Amino acid sequence: MRRGTRRRGQERRFARVFQCRYQRARAERSNMRRKLVAGNWKMNGGLAANARLLDRLAGEWTAAEPRVLAVCVPFPYLAQAQAALTGTTVRWGAQDVSEHAAGAYTGEVAAGMLMEFGCRYAIVGHSERRQLHGESDALVGAKARAAQSAGLIPIACVGETLDERQRNATAAVVSRQLAAVIDALGDHVRDAVVAYEPVWAIGTGRTAAPAEAQAVHAALRTQLASAGAEEVSILYGGSVKAANAATLFAMPDIDGALVGGASLDAGEFLAIGRA
Ligand code: PEP
Repeated sequence: MRRGTRRRGQERRFARVFQCRYQRARAERSNMRRKLVAGNWKMNGGLAANARLLDRLAGEWTAAEPRVLAVCVPFPYLAQAQAALTGTTVRWGAQDVSEHAAGAYTGEVAAGMLMEFGCRYAIVGHSERRQLHGESDALVGAKARAAQSAGLIPIACVGETLDERQRNATAAVVSRQLAAVIDALGDHVRDAVVAYEPVWAIGTGRTAAPAEAQAVHAALRTQLASAGAEEVSILYGGSVKAANAATLFAMPDIDGALVGGASLDAGEFLAIGRA
């Protein structure tokens, strides 16, 4: 290859890397719509398997990638995630947080503690917490506020059950859930992330059709816009895989994904991040 052609190729590659880095850094600092793919490991993992997964993410997710990649790990593995990912472009966070800052709350973990482990994100209101632990909309709002007050970005989950969907209650349910988060955060909602996760699609292998998901995302965006927060990133979650991510990400109001099962497989998760 001629030297001039190779140099122009290199310059183009540098320009692309620089642009991606610049846009991502700008989106992370501001309230621009962040292109985010976050993994939710749920209660899975172990030191050895985590090390393999984190090392691959750290080694293969480069500065030129178009999205922010993050993993939300079980509390005991936060130190491991911090050690493996510090200095890389992969972020990490927790799957829940207490609404309290400190005190006699046995078993709870405060947002300030998560900050000490370098967390960037905390998921709040995941449907498994709402359903299995009885978390109310108000509690989810309070958790989002506690996370944000400590400097974390809450990823606030909303989503309807199958029964609610069959009763045509999707719009009412997600709007009520989002309203609680908006009430709790006020103007600061613009610095949060929202995840639309239809409960019937989580861990079931069933995904909302991209157009169905888009319709809900568009309604959520309209609601956010009325609160002055149109630029909030809205992730889709529910059996996202490398095979279906690109069609979901092609929708105008889907800014990324919250990924459960597929985030435990490094190759699959990296492919979703790049879809
Ligand atoms: C989740 O846990 O948030 C989730 C979306 O899970 P899965 O991708 O496995 O459906």
